[in-house]
Amino acid sequence: MSGLSVAGDDRYLRQTLLPEIGPKGQERLAKACVLIAGAGGLGSASAFYLAGAGVGHIKIVDNDIVEISNLNRQILHVDKTLRQPKALSAADQITAFNPEIQVTSLCERITHDRITAMLDGVDIIVDGLDSFKARQVLNRASLKHGLPYVYAGVNGFDAMISCFVPGQTACFECLFSGNAPESDQPLGVIGAAPGLAGSIQAMETVKLLLDIGRPLKNRLMRISGLDMRCHCMDLTPNPACPACGKALAADNP
Ligand SMILES: [Zn+2]
Repeated sequence: MSGLSVAGDDRYLRQTLLPEIGPKGQERLAKACVLIAGAGGLGSASAFYLAGAGVGHIKIVDNDIVEISNLNRQILHVDKTLRQPKALSAADQITAFNPEIQVTSLCERITHDRITAMLDGVDIIVDGLDSFKARQVLNRASLKHGLPYVYAGVNGFDAMISCFVPGQTACFECLFSGNAPESDQPLGVIGAAPGLAGSIQAMETVKLLLDIGRPLKNRLMRISGLDMRCHCMDLTPNPACPACGKALAADNP
């Protein structure tokens, strides 16, 4: 890094001009650590925008390798990184984009056993996953450690985004029970759908880190890409939620 402070770095000039961010906000972003769970379509968009925003430490987790069928949407990876572990390919691209930040790549599966170590030092969890089970691991860890969980999911041309904040909002499992069987077959998706959702996740993450604006707390944003309609549905915590229901009961006897 140059001798400039982070806040005085021209790289971030266009956002430090914003009164909501300013030099102090930039310093806060530089001290923040975000876990991006999954280096796929969602993680690609959120990682680039969080790196560009100067989030000081990005940990990116993925256990897969880059395949040719990923490249319609997973813009962290390029043709020459085919067959490489996604977490390493992602770290190379993020570092090339912003060499001033720290990037940690974790080539592991997200499991209940490993998640606590992955979350060491982390301020916010960003969901770039595609399975209920792995999301359930993130959700339980978010509740256990009191960390905000920025959720997104995509299907076809459509996307959904919400911010689950323990003690303040509904959680992932208030919304989704996992009863629906998951397909073994790959689902169709246009790359811009995770691109949109991942970009919104990056926006929400910056807002939560800086405590600005009105994040998607207790709101589920749904984007229908074919109609290009967007609406936010209000959410309420489910008292019978298997993940946060008991905690709610304990807090509100
Ligand atoms: Zn819940």
